[in-house]
Amino acid sequence: MERFSTRKKEHLPTHFYNIKADLAVQPKPPLDPRSGQALDPSALQAIFPRAFIDQEISRERYLPIPTAVLEAYAQFRPTPLIYAAELKKKLQTPAHIFYKFEGVSPTGSHKSNTALMQAYLAAEEGVNTLVTETGAGQWGSALAYAGSRFGISTRVFMVRASYRQKPGRRTLMSLFGAQVEESPGPNTESGRGYFLKNADHPGSLGIAISEAVETVLNNPASKYALGSVLDSVLLHQTVIGLEAEKQLSEIGMEPDTVIGCVGGGSNFAGISFPFIRKNLVEGKKIDFIAVEPEVCPTLTGGELRYDHGDSAGLTPLLYMYTLGRDFIPPPIHAGGLRYHGMAPLVSHLAATGQVRACSYSQSAVFAAAKTFYVSEGVLPAPESAHAIAAVIEAANQAARTGEEKIILFNLSGHGFFDIGAYESNGGASSSTAVPA
Ligand SMILES: *Cc1c(COP(=O)(O)O)cnc(C)c1O
Repeated sequence: MERFSTRKKEHLPTHFYNIKADLAVQPKPPLDPRSGQALDPSALQAIFPRAFIDQEISRERYLPIPTAVLEAYAQFRPTPLIYAAELKKKLQTPAHIFYKFEGVSPTGSHKSNTALMQAYLAAEEGVNTLVTETGAGQWGSALAYAGSRFGISTRVFMVRASYRQKPGRRTLMSLFGAQVEESPGPNTESGRGYFLKNADHPGSLGIAISEAVETVLNNPASKYALGSVLDSVLLHQTVIGLEAEKQLSEIGMEPDTVIGCVGGGSNFAGISFPFIRKNLVEGKKIDFIAVEPEVCPTLTGGELRYDHGDSAGLTPLLYMYTLGRDFIPPPIHAGGLRYHGMAPLVSHLAATGQVRACSYSQSAVFAAAKTFYVSEGVLPAPESAHAIAAVIEAANQAARTGEEKIILFNLSGHGFFDIGAYESNGGASSSTAVPA
């Protein structure tokens, strides 16, 4: 097969897919941290828009995408499904490799998919400011864009390690009118302690979430927006997999293996859930691989238990794989994968054997990224490059066994804002990952 890419208007779905409708056993519910009892969803109204909470608890299989959001999606969706013919050639593998390229979104990653939904729902309810945290800056940029699209202000707590590594991201958010501050910082109770001890504290997503949630609790006209982890965020991302399903079925194909990187789990859920449905409902045997960094090994080295989503312990307790809410990962370049927890739905699917996990070192990831760049000509975000490392391993495996299997992965974002990371990881002189 030759290199090709497909995107047609008809590939854009009209509904999100809710995997909970097809799970025989549901994940354990979130708990109220004060009572230790199952959380009353109305308690979330202090921080989230009501319609967002409705989606969070829905068991409907398909939830309609509002017309205004479909119109916003149509600016960049469907995203292309690309056949990686050059990568295949380079790896000398019989495997067919397809990728969904989310880097064409206005802010360069899949995060716009949920940002637009969340900004729309908040705007409908008359919310004046959306407050959030961001790691690498992709989520903050996506929300700043979505906020400006739907006429809502945004305030972003940005993890200091990323803020300093990626000053350009801050500019992008400010251009959309967002107010951006370094986290941990002096403006919240949750940040001040860390900040006063060490004004250069690298921060973590957990701390930044605490700062954002505290800000919302103190400002009733504002609501909180979260870029990953929650069921509804994963739900919004299913547009990725639903499109891929249509794009592949049009050429008579179905994946044998689906791969995505995992930070909080949303882009992986987005590409995989519509295909996991086939295993759950149609008895298919598709293999699902979630890929994480060795230094933040939530699924491969964490514990499955109740834990807070943030560091300060302000959020409900979520039943998930976690490294502990105090875990401060080293400031690696894949900032979007530095989260201590994992989405409860992805945790549940990993615990029940539907999804398997693996991890790679930063050097292996950058070697894989370079291999991809020089063959496909697309510079991946360092986060997405984790998925590529696993794709290359699977393709090499297929080369050994002669299997003509079909691999689908999510290229969750482009790496044009991560040139600095490429420079400090060997730049032009680094080796590429080639067949063993
Ligand atoms: C944020 C981000 C991730 C990690 O978040 P998930 O919720 O696990 O998807 C991965 N890739 C890119 C490009 C990101 O911006």
